[in-house]
Amino acid sequence: MRNIIKGLLLVLTMTMFVFSGCEKKATAKLTEIEKEIIKRAQKQAVQLDKNVGGTQWSSGLERIAKIKDEHFESPDHEWAKWVVVNNAPSRIHFPPWSDAKIQDYLDKYVPDHIGEWGGPSFNRGDYCRMRGIPSNTTHEYGSNEDLNELGGHSMGTMADNGVARKEDGSFANGGWAGSYLMCQNSPKWHGLQIQSPMRQAVYGESIFHDKFETVLRGLSQGFCKWCNSGFKDYMQDNFGRGELAEMNFEPSEFDLVSYVASKRKSLSPAEMLEDPVIHEYIRFQYSNHLYWAVDVIDQYHQSAAKAGFPIPAFYGNQSGVWGSLPYAVSLSDQVDIVWVEQAHSFQRPLDSDVQAFSTLLWKIGRAASHYKKAVWALEYQAGRKESWPMGFGADKKYPTALANAEATADGGVHCQTWVAAPSNN
Ligand SMILES: [Zn+2]
Repeated sequence: MRNIIKGLLLVLTMTMFVFSGCEKKATAKLTEIEKEIIKRAQKQAVQLDKNVGGTQWSSGLERIAKIKDEHFESPDHEWAKWVVVNNAPSRIHFPPWSDAKIQDYLDKYVPDHIGEWGGPSFNRGDYCRMRGIPSNTTHEYGSNEDLNELGGHSMGTMADNGVARKEDGSFANGGWAGSYLMCQNSPKWHGLQIQSPMRQAVYGESIFHDKFETVLRGLSQGFCKWCNSGFKDYMQDNFGRGELAEMNFEPSEFDLVSYVASKRKSLSPAEMLEDPVIHEYIRFQYSNHLYWAVDVIDQYHQSAAKAGFPIPAFYGNQSGVWGSLPYAVSLSDQVDIVWVEQAHSFQRPLDSDVQAFSTLLWKIGRAASHYKKAVWALEYQAGRKESWPMGFGADKKYPTALANAEATADGGVHCQTWVAAPSNN
């Protein structure tokens, strides 16, 4: 009997050895990025498993609570609260500055942080970092729904798995600079978004992401086949069969584009919002966008931690944080620094009726981040003579002083751009 048990143990041990050998051989062929993608897919599969057939409705905040990492209140972000002089003297696509010109600027303005579109070129070769000045880098500029001038390339490689679609199923050039919008519900684009931080996380003390608050639904997009299948999964994960039947939602037959088209025939835009399925569809887009946002921020934090670098502070454009877009306000609790590019049309003397927005952004940003985070904003205080942004002409002292005073009084910090540099006067 003993020998039989011994024999069995031997076979078991050998089997384990063979299998572990196979596993080692298989994993040895994978790159670090591939391993990470597999690990994340497994993690998501476990979460999906928990939801199969469930009628447990989860809010966006409940979903992100499961993935939010421990670095969201990292002591590595403390420096951001002490920034006073916050500058973005150049842009990515501006001609590069010489070292002498950069040094002259640093000597003159003594910035505490180089931000927005300025970091990637200004800090090349770690020029700023080596001199103790934090600077940013950007997350796939324009990012999740906007490839900017890369439109031509995205169509060739991501037309069916990445580029967003309109209600009628067509593509639309709807982004900045006439680019195509991208869909974070498509696996290929989401995969690229997750990979990006692994390379970029170590290049900046902060990470900047434009158009961070832009949910596809708000742009009349979000109707690709991945949105369709993702929405069907969402409905089945969150509602029981009886509830789905009440909504006349049959997963095997449902098609998002034709459903919306058929409802438009009989419902007004206001009535559309009351339709229970469309109501859930809008919720699905917001909830997924929030999940995507925290997922990307997690990757920055974790990639830097793995590489032994300080955890970079993430911030994205929260247009509407002054109260007009509740989703932008809620993002204040998910980022490391609250930030918004405030449109010049919200400033005097262009539209005095909405001057209050520029005060509210500081107050709401501070409160929505529980007074724990730095609140930064960017305004284009003056154009060169009559060039964009219009309104102030050559005089930029008054609007710059006004914006700075307002920010300081309300506990925030402005970022001064190239527009406010003497060279642009
Ligand atoms: Zn989509």
